[in-house]
Amino acid sequence: MRTHPLSARIVTATASKTDLPDLDRKGCEDLVTGMGFKGFHGRSLFKWIHKHGVVDCEAMTDLPKALRRRLLDETCVRLPRPIAVQPAADGTRKWVLELADGQRVETVSIPEGCRTTLCISSQVGCSLACSFCATARQGFNRNLAAGEIIGQVWHATRALGAAPTNIVLMGMGEPLANFDAVVTAMGIMQDDLAYMLSKHRITLSTSGLVPNIYRLRKVSEVALAVSLHAADNALRDRLVPINRKYPLEALLPACKAFVAGDKRRRITWEYVMIDGVNDQITHAKRLIRLLEGIPSKLNLIPFNPFPGSDFRTSPREQVETFRRRILGSGIMATTRKTRGDEIAAACGQLVGRVRDRSRRTAGWQPVVEATAP
Ligand code: SAH
Repeated sequence: MRTHPLSARIVTATASKTDLPDLDRKGCEDLVTGMGFKGFHGRSLFKWIHKHGVVDCEAMTDLPKALRRRLLDETCVRLPRPIAVQPAADGTRKWVLELADGQRVETVSIPEGCRTTLCISSQVGCSLACSFCATARQGFNRNLAAGEIIGQVWHATRALGAAPTNIVLMGMGEPLANFDAVVTAMGIMQDDLAYMLSKHRITLSTSGLVPNIYRLRKVSEVALAVSLHAADNALRDRLVPINRKYPLEALLPACKAFVAGDKRRRITWEYVMIDGVNDQITHAKRLIRLLEGIPSKLNLIPFNPFPGSDFRTSPREQVETFRRRILGSGIMATTRKTRGDEIAAACGQLVGRVRDRSRRTAGWQPVVEATAP
């Protein structure tokens, strides 16, 4: 098949260009020194992008003219583009962001008093197939690049007029399945020349990719949340299928190791409360036994329904009874307030536009219209 020579050139040219938001401070320094300029200009470049929100290299007035020209010629800026914003009555806002290849992901900001928590996505879709999650039903397309992850923070900072005070990697995707890009993006979040977030204010949520929990411990000290949802393998196999690969007897030691050596660290366990499935007192007792000896906080999340799901939310009293039983054992337990559910921005309700490559969506009811390729 013949392609138009010009369009082929454009595509190749863009693909080979460095996308500036993919770079952390060190990446910017290396880029600039590689072009023959002093490293401090790289720090300046990084600060322009993330602190000042300026991505037009012409406007970076303290960079040498010759460097600006090189950047214009040899780099690009492919930040996700907001194409829709939905505000909810409780102040929650959900953005639909379109990526350079037309895929879409969602980002949610949740204000609470003087804090604003931003919930960001790490992948287009998700490959883990948790049975109670809307994102899972869409299947999986690809990992987000570091620039597409931090780009969500970049965008929210501009839209909200201030950087979020907390970030949770609890949007679409499994962050530990996109390890390098997620670690780079989390580094940018913490950088003084960028968003200045302390490691305590960044929470990575994982369904339990055990080897990468160990890897994460070596490179980052952010807070870890683990989607537990069941305290025995038989039930967890059904709810969180990655459990078949990394069962509880592998997951728990990894989590223990993650918080070892620092008395202030603890694991946040997420536990979605599904009516009649995992919300009985016997489940609570099993959970207490399982978590014994691990510094823990339990976060109960009432199941958020979505079209096509057969699960039901546990009744409020059941959640309270369960929570009190856990509290009685000395484990701290809270119930997550459902925020933004009228705009489908609550946990497990995020869906973008995903061209499924995992073929999982075949035979499922689509949650959103599939797009033409
Ligand atoms: N893949 C990561 C992060 C994304 S999900 C993980 O599994 O941790 C963020 C949290 O929302 C997880 O705890 C997930 O299990 C939970 N969740 C998913 N679907 C949900 C639903 N329908 N109702 C309530 N919580 C849900």
